[in-house]
Amino acid sequence: MSDARLAGIGMTSARTRERLLQRLREQGIRDERVLERVRNVPRHLFVDEALASRAYEDTALPIGFGQTISQPYVVARMTEALLAGGDLFNVLEIGTGCGYQTAVLAPLVGRVTTIERIGPLYERARQRLKELGTKNVRLKHGDGMAGWKAYAPYDGMLVAAAPLAVPQALLAQLSPKGGRLVVPVGPEGAQELVRITRREEKFVRDKLGDVSFVPLVAGIA
Ligand code: SAH
Repeated sequence: MSDARLAGIGMTSARTRERLLQRLREQGIRDERVLERVRNVPRHLFVDEALASRAYEDTALPIGFGQTISQPYVVARMTEALLAGGDLFNVLEIGTGCGYQTAVLAPLVGRVTTIERIGPLYERARQRLKELGTKNVRLKHGDGMAGWKAYAPYDGMLVAAAPLAVPQALLAQLSPKGGRLVVPVGPEGAQELVRITRREEKFVRDKLGDVSFVPLVAGIA
């Protein structure tokens, strides 16, 4: 991909991105590794060209099929919460969407395995991540509610869509040696972001605040 496309112009330029960073700092994002990723990942290339001028606003934007690219603050918050507590080598992400969260996370951990249930979104995310030269990401078109047993246990998990209750399969695939799962839980309009840390058969929950996500849906499309 050309440097000019990556760098962006006008509303997608470095200066616009700095304003977004400023906002994330004001909202309490402290992890410099995460802020650096938000600065460097070209979010304008993850949305439709017609929406590119809004790519560095701190809002969710439509990506088709009734889904949205997550709000930068939420991506930063979840990534920060996941990274807090030590290095991660094997991370499972559920809800690839357009692949933006995946791109932010990938260089900060050993490997990301990511699952998306909607075929065309999976295809596009795969293509885009390849174009951006992302190396340590494994993608699957499938139902993330079942996790992906072949590569378990995961020392980190990040879920980008909200279940009513955390699926048992995910808890079972979380490393018993301090594995961390960051997930929004609850019905639309009343969701809370939680981090669950597993030590053997004990699961400790930390509440990270109210959020608004699309629902986690069973099956593939
Ligand atoms: N982080 C993504 C946000 C995507 S929105 C981004 O930056 O673009 C949430 C995504 O979760 C949607 O693409 C939706 O299709 C997907 N999803 C919902 N239920 C799922 C499931 N059971 N398995 C896998 N993906 C799922």
